[in-house]
Amino acid sequence: MGFSMQVTELLAKPITEKIYTQLSGQVQLLQAKGVIPQLAIILVGDNPASLVYIGHKQKIAGRLGINTRLYQYPVNITEAELLANINNLNNDSNINAVICQLPLPGHINAHKIAEAINPYKDVDGLHPLNRGRLLSGDNEFYFTPCTALAVMELLRFYQRPPAAKKALVIGSSAIVGQPVAQLLLQATATVTIAHSATANLANELAMADIIVSAAGKPHFIKSSQLKAGTVVIDVGISRTDSGLVGDMLLDDATPAAYSPVPGGVGPLTVAMLMANTVKAAHN
Ligand code: NAD
Repeated sequence: MGFSMQVTELLAKPITEKIYTQLSGQVQLLQAKGVIPQLAIILVGDNPASLVYIGHKQKIAGRLGINTRLYQYPVNITEAELLANINNLNNDSNINAVICQLPLPGHINAHKIAEAINPYKDVDGLHPLNRGRLLSGDNEFYFTPCTALAVMELLRFYQRPPAAKKALVIGSSAIVGQPVAQLLLQATATVTIAHSATANLANELAMADIIVSAAGKPHFIKSSQLKAGTVVIDVGISRTDSGLVGDMLLDDATPAAYSPVPGGVGPLTVAMLMANTVKAAHN
């Protein structure tokens, strides 16, 4: 275990403190103009993990002066009813930001829901317009998914620039893997996206300078599989008998830097949601 002393922990806390100081100031300025940022959170059903995440979001928002309101619907709500409710939120001028907590039950088409949310209120960045803006590199007045922003913020703050590095993104979801890969590409990394059909993940792990893992498989990669000096951003969150764990197990071979679970990407993702909500209120 001696080596594990050398890992640099990429912790969210010093970053979130700065962000919250800035955001509180911005919220006060908005309030002085009579604008109170309002975030609507849609939840279908009562998934306990979703309720925990929503609780975190509401607590932080409350501290910053951002209003939140939970719109919780029964798990058997029809897609048409949910779409009608989203339309009401789109038309409510007091509400600046709308998110729909994932996962959704199987009878609801998540693409249709993403497309229904007004792109100017879509602070999760899942509307096709926001996704397209990200691809075009023009996201100035639009929204990028919060977890992808959090990953880039960790790399920036801890001075691990991705330029010209070999970056491996594990996971290709619309909410994490794809936008992270896109931002890394824009930051001029050489990007590989691995997923559950990737033939030889071990080869990819052994070559990467930066790994962003978002598979959600507890401890499924080991730090001894990496080359010396790798930087690992662990996005995965799995609930196990020993608590929350990430995708990577730190064994006797230590990466140069690692974002721990909990304490790394998670809290910074919430901070990015707050930043996107304040941005939506400005818009
Ligand atoms: P998802 O299930 O939509 O996607 C998982 C991806 O991982 C898929 O592309 C799949 O092909 C890939 N994958 C699964 N097993 C793999 C394997 N063995 N090898 C390579 N690739 C594999 O999940 P998601 O919504 O993208 O979330 C991923 C993880 O990140 C989850 O643990 C989730 O809880 C976590 N998450 C964390 C935050 C945060 O704020 N820290 C935010 C969002 C998601």
